[in-house]
Amino acid sequence: MRKYKCSICGYVHTGSSAPECCPGCKSPASKFIGQNDIINDIIEDKKIISMVGKWVNDRGQFYVFSEDGKFMTNVAKGGATVMGTYMFVDNMLAISVPGYDVSGRRYVVNGDDLDIIVGGEHTHYKKQS
Ligand SMILES: [Zn+2]
Repeated sequence: MRKYKCSICGYVHTGSSAPECCPGCKSPASKFIGQNDIINDIIEDKKIISMVGKWVNDRGQFYVFSEDGKFMTNVAKGGATVMGTYMFVDNMLAISVPGYDVSGRRYVVNGDDLDIIVGGEHTHYKKQS
């Protein structure tokens, strides 16, 4: 038996697969995310569930966010892919990359849109479906 959590309303279903239709909000099975014990605590945070996936801009730069609170990008450190961590602080996405200063950046998430603002510059990323 596994646990499946509705990413829309948070309803948790236990069984061999996700339910066809969420009893809480009527969302389809595709909105359910399977959980295992290790990541349970982290994906209890609904915002992190909605963040999981690949986010790309029109120059082919990307961020890949995973369920365990880590991300990869080809933006920082001269194009090398680096691994850092992300979390939400006061409803804002906050990322951390060891040895790299990201303190002057703002990460604004709104649905499938991610905007990274550095100084006056603004880069838009879209979540890939
Ligand atoms: Zn639901």
